[in-house]
Amino acid sequence: MTYRAPINDMLLALNYGAGLLSAVEAGHYGDFDAEITAAVLEEAGKFAADVLAPLNRTGDAHGVKLDTGKVTTAPGWRDAYKRWTDGGWNAVSGPEAFGGQGLPLAINAACTEIWSASNMAFGLCPLLTLSAIEALDAHGSEELKKTYLGKLVSGEWTGTMQLTEPQAGSDVGALRTRAERMPDGTYRLKGTKIFITYGDHDMTDNIVHFVLARLPDAPAGTKGISLFLVPKFLVNANGSLGARNDIYASGVEHKLGIHASPTCTMTMGDGGGAIGYLIGEENQGMRCMFTMMNQARLGVGLEGVGIADRAYQQALAYAQERRQGRAVGTVGNGADPIVMHPDIKRTLLQMRAMTAAARSICYATAVALDISFRTKDAKVQAEAAARGALLTPIAKAFSTDIGNEVAYLGVQVHGGMGFIEETGAAQHYRDARITSIYEGTNGIQSIDLVTRKLAANGGASVFALLDELSAIVKQVEISNDPAFGTTGAKLREALAALERTSRWLLERVTSAPNDALAGATPYLRLFGSTLGGCLLANEALAARKESDGKRYVTLARFFAENISVQATSLEKAVTDSAEAVNGADAALLG
Ligand SMILES: Cc1cc2nc3c(=O)[nH]c(=O)nc-3n(C[C@H](O)[C@H](O)[C@H](O)COP(=O)(O)OP(=O)(O)OC[C@H]3O[C@@H](n4cnc5c(N)ncnc54)[C@H](O)[C@@H]3O)c2cc1C
Repeated sequence: MTYRAPINDMLLALNYGAGLLSAVEAGHYGDFDAEITAAVLEEAGKFAADVLAPLNRTGDAHGVKLDTGKVTTAPGWRDAYKRWTDGGWNAVSGPEAFGGQGLPLAINAACTEIWSASNMAFGLCPLLTLSAIEALDAHGSEELKKTYLGKLVSGEWTGTMQLTEPQAGSDVGALRTRAERMPDGTYRLKGTKIFITYGDHDMTDNIVHFVLARLPDAPAGTKGISLFLVPKFLVNANGSLGARNDIYASGVEHKLGIHASPTCTMTMGDGGGAIGYLIGEENQGMRCMFTMMNQARLGVGLEGVGIADRAYQQALAYAQERRQGRAVGTVGNGADPIVMHPDIKRTLLQMRAMTAAARSICYATAVALDISFRTKDAKVQAEAAARGALLTPIAKAFSTDIGNEVAYLGVQVHGGMGFIEETGAAQHYRDARITSIYEGTNGIQSIDLVTRKLAANGGASVFALLDELSAIVKQVEISNDPAFGTTGAKLREALAALERTSRWLLERVTSAPNDALAGATPYLRLFGSTLGGCLLANEALAARKESDGKRYVTLARFFAENISVQATSLEKAVTDSAEAVNGADAALLG
């Protein structure tokens, strides 16, 4: 199945929904020229369609192989990765001082959507490398940067992120991998990590692992975790590869989806311990890891958007071809394409609108992070950093839930053929499932939203955002455009519900924390569907002056009238169900 990047939708979301153009005009992007955005996305779209999309099914069918510690990727993977680095795609937002192109994260976010849509299992490898680059650039010593950063930026070497152990998943503080100090200033690591993405592969001649471990005298929990750089092959002073380090893939998982992405058990210490170099300070590993994880959480949100868009494109193509039954009101003999039936039209509209909302939220997160890194204005910087922090869990969890839901609907549009692997709809459904789980489950994201992001500064970041969204709704109202239908009224109600629910949670987050925690997941959904509705309305306001702009008004209207409208029910799910949830004891659940 072919893939075409939806460039117009992406540009609209970036420039207006996410506010890239106004941020550039306000001078927060330095000398970045927004004119180049379209050209970069066009080229990315071509690369994805020509090189990555054709390998998506091959990768799914072949998976990966492990033989004596070495992982072999699916046919075509090595060549595609070489073309990827030759084309400079690994270096889009990498630091210029280390050979990167220094483009905004927002541009890279749009590219990440494209890679994920065309071939999620492939795109996952550079997604993690990018997170590693961010952590090393922000926290690494000059010596480590000199040796490793340039090769990670170019993609000559890839990066992994190693937190998870059998007893330490969401509870990272429970990890046990040990790091011993050596007289030469290096460390020796011993332990086992599980579920490590691209922990080993044959696409590059070295892999740079970023491993969380605990020193012998470290305090318990997350306060006693340190981050180490552990190369697969040690690097000699002249940059050439030296001895094999004592870190090996000892197993690969058989999974529901992303078969072509190796998910490895990594063993350190069978040969005396893996040599590691400290990143940042001892016992400050969680701080460094958060730099990595925040980047990766946005990336995973974009996987949700990408997979949703791919599932939508495929379902639309199928619905235009597949003929069944007569559409009510048509004349003549024979069956009509199923796209003519209102129920299918509605499903497709829902798929497209939900994808567009998730896209705008992810891009808005990237723009906030960009501003926080690039602006020279201290007040703007602080506000943008708070906005980026607030939006990150929503971008991750809302967008990946949408990815799953849209992929589910994609199978449904295909009928029985959706259940048969040949169409590819089933692969999207399987691949999407992991996005709600890794990089912190969506439940953990919701808890982060309520207990940290909402509660930070007494809710000030949330209320500042609500004011901005209210101004968008005002524009819809004063447009008096009948094409918007009841969009303005529906979004107003949603905003009011979100504000009431935020205040309800703020009152309980310390006084009755279990009540606040019981409502975390519906609160995140309420937040995402209100925010998404307002961002789509903003895009529609910008697009409606263009010749093909009316369809964006229809999309925004559909979202407001069918999805944002669920806000009041979600409010009740938060405020009225805490008693039932917390009253349910283990015996009842059993
Ligand atoms: C394909 C794949 C690739 C992965 N890649 C990597 C990787 O590259 N690097 C890496 O380090 N890890 C990786 N992981 C691990 C992944 O990040 C974890 O699986 C994930 O964080 C969840 O941890 P867990 O599986 O131990 O689930 P658990 O932590 O056991 O969670 C089980 C359930 O309980 C909930 N839960 C847990 N704690 C709480 C709480 N305090 N409050 C409320 N609910 C809670 C969770 O939301 C979840 O629904 C990968 C996993 C997979 C399957």
